[in-house]
Amino acid sequence: MEKIVGLAKRRGFVFPGSDIYGGIGSTYDYGPLGVLLKNNIRTAWWKAMTQERDDVVGLDSAILMSPKVWEASGHLAGFSDPLVDCKNCKKRWRADHLLEAKSAEMAGLREAPVEMKDVRCPACGGELGEERQFNMMMKTFLGPVEEAAAVVYLRPETAQGIFVNFKNAQESARKRVPFGIAQVGKSFRNEITPGNFIFRTREFEQMEMEFFVKPGTDEEWFESWKQFMMDWFTRFGVKADNLRFLEHAKEKLSHYSKRTVDLEYQYPWGWGELWGCANRTDFDLKQHEKHSGQDLSYRDDLTNERYHPYVIEPALGLDRAMLVFMLDAYEEIDGGRSTTTDAVKDIETVLRFHPAIAPIKAAIFPLSKKEPLTGIAHELRNRLARRWSVQYDETGSVGKRYRRQDEIGTPFCITVDFQTVGEEGVPGDDKVTVRDRDTMLQERVAISELESYLAAKLGC
Ligand code: ATP
Repeated sequence: MEKIVGLAKRRGFVFPGSDIYGGIGSTYDYGPLGVLLKNNIRTAWWKAMTQERDDVVGLDSAILMSPKVWEASGHLAGFSDPLVDCKNCKKRWRADHLLEAKSAEMAGLREAPVEMKDVRCPACGGELGEERQFNMMMKTFLGPVEEAAAVVYLRPETAQGIFVNFKNAQESARKRVPFGIAQVGKSFRNEITPGNFIFRTREFEQMEMEFFVKPGTDEEWFESWKQFMMDWFTRFGVKADNLRFLEHAKEKLSHYSKRTVDLEYQYPWGWGELWGCANRTDFDLKQHEKHSGQDLSYRDDLTNERYHPYVIEPALGLDRAMLVFMLDAYEEIDGGRSTTTDAVKDIETVLRFHPAIAPIKAAIFPLSKKEPLTGIAHELRNRLARRWSVQYDETGSVGKRYRRQDEIGTPFCITVDFQTVGEEGVPGDDKVTVRDRDTMLQERVAISELESYLAAKLGC
């Protein structure tokens, strides 16, 4: 994890937020490569959801919503986590997380279930205070007057924007149930214990989809979306061995859920949630109908049946997905794998990103810093840049330039050399050397065919 955090900062994926002021509680800024990586993940999700399927449409609703939304959804009353303070060092902890950790530590050692009174402060061993509920919604004021009537909340999930637009989206897109509405956007939670880099932060981006189905078909649809989640991550290169499902125990389900399953990832600190799938039943639509006085039922125009659809919700964090793509792609090769003479026989780092996810698709190197090699390389860069994110690099040996690109996961490096342009008495072949990040194989490809060659290899 430390290596990922170091690489992320050094190569411009993720910086600590407000860094020059010493940072501010677990916020992060995405750098030049991070923003590309995040865009690619968002696009891959959006395309799989709304473009490849014809039963899901998109939405982009406002972050600030009527406070009545949060009253109806139950967030005002119940979106809280159990908080405990250490009486000694004053650190704050999530009581449920401490209990889980202690239970895991005591597994097999005693029969009686672990209780909060058995738990001490993980930081100093001090005694913990009484457990109390802490609402995680962040508050602000709408308009210039800071008064109670102007209080609004930064949304803690994007889902509610979808529920309140159920009718708008369904009628305008002329969709029949079963169909879904997808949305990507920022959510805010005043987490008690943010941490593990971008795994848990207080401001994060969610990619959520609410799929509306006829009651009675919900369990079947749940299975199908569960499979979609696993397939999406493995399609974009995450190893299946690092993924598993965790079924939530009935007594631990959220107030709206009939069933919840998490797709978990094996993080460096252990298995943890990556993508949650919940059967939210007709809870949200019925609550909004009750609180708004608007009819949110659906009429099937073929059978004339009227009902409140059930909702299957796969909800994924974009930042958390990005962390997983980085962790899973990260590989160190001890002693290096280059065979060129200038290779530093050191640890080499490769990010084996899927081409669709990789922030830079190809890098273009002139073998020397002189014309006509540089001119041709610049021209190639400009041509390829119309289609893909590419980089031009002329500094250092080619071996060093390969390693620089391997470290950020660039699938292909293209070198313009003397054979391309020809030398005294020898005509150029108008070909470049294309080197594959994973196989390290090098191929001579005609410049005129380079674009179609890359398109076929990248698949995007
Ligand atoms: P947890 O149990 O980890 O607090 P949750 O069950 O409350 O998460 P959901 O409400 O199901 O999470 O949110 C859906 C997804 O949003 C999660 O699977 C995760 O990928 C992402 N997510 C939730 N909270 C955060 C956070 N604080 N920072 C980053 N991503 C988050």
